[in-house]
Amino acid sequence: MEANVNLALRKLGVNFCLKDQQRETLESLYEGNDCISVLPTGYGKSLIFQMLPWVLKAENVSRMVIVICPLTAIMQDQVMSLCKKGIKAYYINIQGTGICCVKRSGEESGSDSDDLVQPEIVSIVLGEDFRPKFQQIGELTALFPNAAHLAVTATATPSSIAFLSKTLQYSKPVVITVNPDRPNLYLEIKTRLPNIHKYDKYDDIIQPLTQELKDLGDRYPVTIVYVESLEALGYFYQYINYELKDDQYIGDPIPENRIFGQYHKDYTTAMKLHIVTELKKEKPKLRLILATVALGMGLDAPGIVRIVHCRPPTTLEKYFQEIGRAGRRGQKAIATMYINNNDLAKHRKGLSEAMVKYCKGNHGCFRLQLLQYFGFDKAIFNGPKDECCSFCRSQNSELE
Ligand SMILES: [Zn+2]
Repeated sequence: MEANVNLALRKLGVNFCLKDQQRETLESLYEGNDCISVLPTGYGKSLIFQMLPWVLKAENVSRMVIVICPLTAIMQDQVMSLCKKGIKAYYINIQGTGICCVKRSGEESGSDSDDLVQPEIVSIVLGEDFRPKFQQIGELTALFPNAAHLAVTATATPSSIAFLSKTLQYSKPVVITVNPDRPNLYLEIKTRLPNIHKYDKYDDIIQPLTQELKDLGDRYPVTIVYVESLEALGYFYQYINYELKDDQYIGDPIPENRIFGQYHKDYTTAMKLHIVTELKKEKPKLRLILATVALGMGLDAPGIVRIVHCRPPTTLEKYFQEIGRAGRRGQKAIATMYINNNDLAKHRKGLSEAMVKYCKGNHGCFRLQLLQYFGFDKAIFNGPKDECCSFCRSQNSELE
């Protein structure tokens, strides 16, 4: 396998070492096992399936890897970057119309990428709102009984791993997990005004963020603010727009130079692409993004150092995935979640008990609670209490 791994790294132009669990995943697939890998955001899940055509190459037959991914923007992005490296990649969108094919220019015939292809490997990337479709993916598993199958996800509890395995019809999968703790991420929960305030319930949140954006401009820590609805997003957007006026541009007053932006599912594909492209830069012009839940999957945005939730997501899985966008380079980052009692009301659709318990804030360290939820009993974090979470910080100040 080693020679194949090296070949894959060379083909992809990767010059760093594989991480342990990336290697373990490749090994178990190489040995023909089905595999479920729970690898945190930023760990390098895509690299695994990008490497598979070469890692699984046998007797000079290249393999085809089928990747199932729930977001068109991510597929586009992945296919484009593979094509730039001269690797044959295609995508089919949900309408079945958007097939992309780019052939390497000046490609010598008889090269590896020419002698495709037997569809033998099926790789599956899972994301939120994808779970209802599981049954159908199980059918696909059955279609390729001789292929090794891989499911990669950033977050899964022990019971959801069992559920995954059963629904995807995997046989005795190898389960590979990484402790998902993010020691560089400070977790905090704050209360906000009750919902009887129509929009000004958000003013506690938006005022300081906007003032700071005005003061710091292009030095503003890159922040994603998750808002609960398009309506709320509109309010935030107008508020910042009004407050910043001419200060909202770096350089000429054109949309591309704006330091804040919005991202939601009804936004145009071109504008979504602009946001994603901008966020992938080390130093994006775009410093604050107002988003509904749609932003983030598979996005490698190195500059993001702050995530603000205006109200809790419904599940800890979603929450953990969303805060996982911050501090991707190991730099200090902060995740702030605002709550009020209405957010935790029983009738809120989809709200999980675990989320409510977490938000109540009296069950100890937030970091540890999250980790325990995902089946780990120890944190990687070992810094001062003040830098762990708002619960630990409050305990600490009581002692002083
Ligand atoms: Zn803590």
